[in-house]
Amino acid sequence: MNNKKSECRLICERECAKKENKNIKDFTLARKIYNQYKKSFKKESQAYSFVRIIRGHYGEHHRKVATQPKPLNYDHKNSIIPYKESLNSPARVLVLDIETAPLKGYFWQLWKQNIQINQITNDWFIFTWAAKWLFEDKIYSGKVTGKEAIKQDDKRIMKGIWQMLNEADIVISHNGKKFDMPKLNTRFLLNGMTPPLPYQQIDTCDSARKMLAFSSNKQEFISIAFGSPRKLETGGFELWDSCYKGDEKALAKMEEYNIGDIVSLELNYLKLRPFIMPHPNMGLFIMDGLQRCPSCGSDDLQDCAKDYRTTVAVYELKKCKCCGASSRVRKQKGTPKEKHGILSSSPR
Ligand SMILES: [Zn+2]
Repeated sequence: MNNKKSECRLICERECAKKENKNIKDFTLARKIYNQYKKSFKKESQAYSFVRIIRGHYGEHHRKVATQPKPLNYDHKNSIIPYKESLNSPARVLVLDIETAPLKGYFWQLWKQNIQINQITNDWFIFTWAAKWLFEDKIYSGKVTGKEAIKQDDKRIMKGIWQMLNEADIVISHNGKKFDMPKLNTRFLLNGMTPPLPYQQIDTCDSARKMLAFSSNKQEFISIAFGSPRKLETGGFELWDSCYKGDEKALAKMEEYNIGDIVSLELNYLKLRPFIMPHPNMGLFIMDGLQRCPSCGSDDLQDCAKDYRTTVAVYELKKCKCCGASSRVRKQKGTPKEKHGILSSSPR
């Protein structure tokens, strides 16, 4: 059986690599392969799934392009980020947000509750997700249907977001380290899926908390402070309740709300970026020998009048003209003779 399977795959790999097949659509190519090698395949769909996997198209049909993507305007008044920046970094950076269903259960009082596990009648699951690749216009989203919400079945919508996470080098979210990522991973696990390939994380909430002092670190507060579009009104808990009961309109509203969050999250990230430390090193995704800004990957760097000093070494500082982040070169300043005279203090 396994030998048979690998033979099918080999045939598909060979056919996909052929120059004359490059522009043929997945389905047509699969049919062509199947008709040519009928004996090697059990059915035509087998060739189709191999072609999709080999071409990296597998899972695409689980992603739905959102119906109301808000057009992004990168040239808006306060923006310092030119749109051309997207050309600088080949990293796949995913901007992500999810909306989950609450837990349902029995409880006796309002305050100081210690709810036992047998008091939980319904565990949480995922209502909707929304995601986009940084600097791209298309917004993807997934939403459970009314029937799925009643059954609390998010398995179908998990496939699309799994595929995107699997492709992502870096994932941007607001409070994703504590909320979105563990939640998604739990649903992947409970739906019998494997973890997506590893990715680095940027958590705008976490970074704001560590590096800045906004009066609130909620995404909505930061968005308003930046003059980004306001979050849509959700209508409060009733929306979550209606979604739970499988109300299609409420679920559509939840998805729209989720998409709105993605748009402001991307704008907030770009504003916060020079203050995010440490930022995943974008230079590692380019590696062309040029000195590149770790935060955005630009090679448009300015020398600084100031150096960076650790307790025993001096390094040249650079400031990025594109995103405003500062970084230091990795080679120490000074000749071996000059460095020879540097002592390290001994506080013990
Ligand atoms: Zn930069």
